[in-house]
Amino acid sequence: MKKKGSIKNIEILLEKKKRAVKILSLLEDEYPEAKCHLNFDGPFELLIGCILSAQCTDKRVNEVTPGLFKKYPTPFEFSKADQSELEQEIHSCGFYRAKTKSIINCSKALVEEHDGEVPRTMDELTKLAGVGRKTANVVLGNYFGIPGIIVDTHIKRLSTRLGLTTNSDPTKIEYDLNELMPQKKWTIFSNSLGDHGRTVCHARKPLCGDCIISLLCPSAGLV
Ligand code: SF4
Repeated sequence: MKKKGSIKNIEILLEKKKRAVKILSLLEDEYPEAKCHLNFDGPFELLIGCILSAQCTDKRVNEVTPGLFKKYPTPFEFSKADQSELEQEIHSCGFYRAKTKSIINCSKALVEEHDGEVPRTMDELTKLAGVGRKTANVVLGNYFGIPGIIVDTHIKRLSTRLGLTTNSDPTKIEYDLNELMPQKKWTIFSNSLGDHGRTVCHARKPLCGDCIISLLCPSAGLV
């Protein structure tokens, strides 16, 4: 026989799932065009854009990448890049030394182990230098059509405010949200929640009075 406590937990989870799906539906209506904000042509450009976007805005990355991909169009050119030259190219994205190393090592692995192609599994992607679950889910979801929850700074902040997770570790947040959302919606939920974070639920002073999901948010008016 099931303990009372576990039945209660299942009920709480079911209620939370219902609320999460309602949130998703409102966000989908509000942000029908929600997508990744990095400009890219193909999975390799998206992958490099993601590596550059750590601690940097997508806008800045989009300013840097056109010239960068003109000079280094494929993993092959990046794998042979001169470190200090590449550092200069991406300097304005911040953390340029670490990002340069990641980009060169990631490109070498793509050339040596994947025939210059970007792999399409979480396992293979996260073995590449500079690629964590967030970047892997961006590439899988926004290029290959394989859904994944993308736990960036916006998703982390909003899913906490919305009471959809109590975790702070990105992987645990990802798994919590996986439980609450239909799998096919994982990427669209991430992109639309990200748009909501950029436009309404700001880190400082969220605009709760203008928020379309305020009735479903336990933090409404309290942040
Ligand atoms: S009600 Fe406020 S805290 Fe909640 S999601 Fe909307 S803007 Fe963010």
